[in-house]
Amino acid sequence: MSNSTIKTIGFIGLGNMGKPMADNLLKNGFKLKVFDLNQQVLAQMADQGATVANSPAEATTDVDMVVSMLPAGQHVKSVYLGDGADNQGVFASLNPDTLVADCSTISASDAREVAEVATAKGITFIDAPVSGGTGGATAGTLTFIVGGDEDAFNRAKPVLEAMGKNIFHAGAHGAGQVAKICNNMLLGILMSGTAEALNLGVKNGLDPKVLSDIMLQSSGRNWTLEVYNPYPNVIDSVPSSNGYGGGFMSKLMLKDMNLAKTTADDTGVQTPMADQARDMYTDHVETHADKDFSSIMGVYDDSVLS
Ligand code: NAD
Repeated sequence: MSNSTIKTIGFIGLGNMGKPMADNLLKNGFKLKVFDLNQQVLAQMADQGATVANSPAEATTDVDMVVSMLPAGQHVKSVYLGDGADNQGVFASLNPDTLVADCSTISASDAREVAEVATAKGITFIDAPVSGGTGGATAGTLTFIVGGDEDAFNRAKPVLEAMGKNIFHAGAHGAGQVAKICNNMLLGILMSGTAEALNLGVKNGLDPKVLSDIMLQSSGRNWTLEVYNPYPNVIDSVPSSNGYGGGFMSKLMLKDMNLAKTTADDTGVQTPMADQARDMYTDHVETHADKDFSSIMGVYDDSVLS
């Protein structure tokens, strides 16, 4: 079956990222069986032509591939490996011909643990975390960063291309997650630094849009300024212009910065810049966990949060 075309996909986790990713799979002609804990999103997917399942096991039966987009490692392990007699996990009953791609951002060690169990059962697993935010998920322009063997990467590629533009093979199991947390560690630093610079300019009389335009054509240019400006109403339809709703929740950014910290500590690597940004997100999450991570702007100027 390894060379056959993937037509039917079991999709688990239809949140801010998973829902638009699943939409793009449907648009590209794949048949979907979907599962999430949120009934509302399942009803929407049913209206769009997906088959709604009542459990992860049901969503992953009689499919060619499984894609998951879950919050954190504990959810991924619970879905695939189970966590007790009542939940044996998807791998307990999955047809070994099924290719499994977990697109959540989790630790490399959790990804390797899931891959090891899969391999022991003859199941092919890849870690395939993404970058590009909810905008990239909606537009189908995500970057996928894959860890796993070459054959699995090539099998998954046509499906990932229906949801993304740049599909990278980072290396063996876990390598996708290492690359992803390096990226998000930098993103956390860039978002805090961009908010800090915008605040300095605004407090010194500059218009945030004018300052952003200037920095975009200068050496401070970066992704957060260009497509995800943290100051409200500089860019339309980003979370900062929408009360910091939707997007990438601050608690998930903190999760990623903690993953980077654990990896750094485990390997004796210093990350002083990330440590500062992580401390800021740790405090910020106490009050604004579910707001988009660009709401770190509020640490500098709390008027943006009111
Ligand atoms: P989210 O919280 O919006 O979505 C997660 C979904 O998983 C929810 O719908 C939830 O109901 C569902 N879920 C949780 N446990 C489940 C279970 N046991 N079975 C089935 N469904 C379950 O989160 P998100 O923003 O979509 O992020 C998902 C992953 O993608 C995270 O690992 C995050 O770090 C990563 N990520 C997010 C972004 C972003 O911009 N939001 C960008 C890149 C990567």
